[in-house]
Amino acid sequence: MIPLAEARAHVLGRCPAPEAAEVALAGARGLVLATPVASPEDVPPFANTAMDGFAVRAADTVGAPVELPVVGTVAAGMDPVADGITVGAGTAARIMTGAPMPPGADAVVMVERTERVGDDRVRVDVEVPSGNHVRHPGEDLAAGDEAFGAGTELGPGHLGVLASIGVERVPVWRRLRVGVASTGDELREGAGPLARGQIRDANRPSLLGLLAEMGVEPVDLGRVPDDEAAIERALVDGVASCDALLTSGGVSMGDFDYVKVVLDRIGDMRWMQVAIKPAKPLAFGLVDGVPVFGLPGNPVSSMVSFELFARPALRAMGGHAEVDRRRVRAVVDGGLGRHPDGKVHFARVAVSTVDGRFRAASAGGQGSHQLTAMAAADGLAVLPDGDGVADGDEVDVLLLT
Ligand code: AMP
Ligand code: MG
Repeated sequence: MIPLAEARAHVLGRCPAPEAAEVALAGARGLVLATPVASPEDVPPFANTAMDGFAVRAADTVGAPVELPVVGTVAAGMDPVADGITVGAGTAARIMTGAPMPPGADAVVMVERTERVGDDRVRVDVEVPSGNHVRHPGEDLAAGDEAFGAGTELGPGHLGVLASIGVERVPVWRRLRVGVASTGDELREGAGPLARGQIRDANRPSLLGLLAEMGVEPVDLGRVPDDEAAIERALVDGVASCDALLTSGGVSMGDFDYVKVVLDRIGDMRWMQVAIKPAKPLAFGLVDGVPVFGLPGNPVSSMVSFELFARPALRAMGGHAEVDRRRVRAVVDGGLGRHPDGKVHFARVAVSTVDGRFRAASAGGQGSHQLTAMAAADGLAVLPDGDGVADGDEVDVLLLT
């Protein structure tokens, strides 16, 4: 067995570097900026009002209440200059949120602090300072400002900002396409009856889901029987159209574990027995330069192996600086038992916060075939070799959410 850190370093060290690309803004969510983006213009682009109300000269509100003639209305989207609306001394203009400040006005009185008098006058009930409720050009971003630096992971807010400065094509690290295949003669899918010995494929949906969740484009490569030629065909086809492949099953010590055999033959493979539980076996190799993660078959093992190896590697390939899940200290509720075996154990735990501290409790059955606890878990508690962690003691937890 080799230590987790060694296996991880091997995998991360062999994965290809990210590739730069320009993508449409609408397809950029979750991607990482490859170069900084500067704003070509001011945001907001012009002085405008933050409130519905009346544009005035602040000096005219001294001694409020004051009554002013209303010279016009400025709605959002209008140009008061083109429409000849000017707020001269002792006048006001009706104005709507987002509308440009008309020439002459330097403040806005919100409508709630006014009263219409007849058809064409307004009573202003408060004295306001110059600049009241006025949003100035460049207050969010000034022309020439760096909007976002290289390495920024683009969330919904970033997409909004980029749209606000007119960016249509975004310089990013390309989105990865990652194929997923399940191996095993016993596998079926769907609702039909199972013959004795058969089980339904759980790994493909969970691995495809993990990929989608991390912003990778998942590609379903289906089920492959325990047959060398079939596995070879699936891998060769997969690497032709994907940036990485995940397989599950067929990498252990069984007589029909052909994934590692095929990977060794057609690729540049290292088969590792990692000192962890679950997910001890991992076959990792490059086929035509494309990383192939031969994950173990047990459903929990395949997901844990994904978390520990594939996810960090794929994040690095996608240009993310931070590749690991957040690790926190948590107080254990109810204890997390184990026996010494030379391995680090990853226990599926439900994580909560009580009085500002993380707490972790077993999420259910901890067998590598017991996927319900993995589904219920928000974290993996890292149990060092030994006798486990007692109730009330602290443990490191990798947060899965
Ligand atoms: P293997 O690594 O191929 O020996 O598989 C280990 C265990 O995981 C066996 O009990 C398999 O039946 C099970 N297994 C393998 N692949 C899947 C899958 N896609 N879904 C559910 N169980 C699986
Ligand atoms: Mg198998």
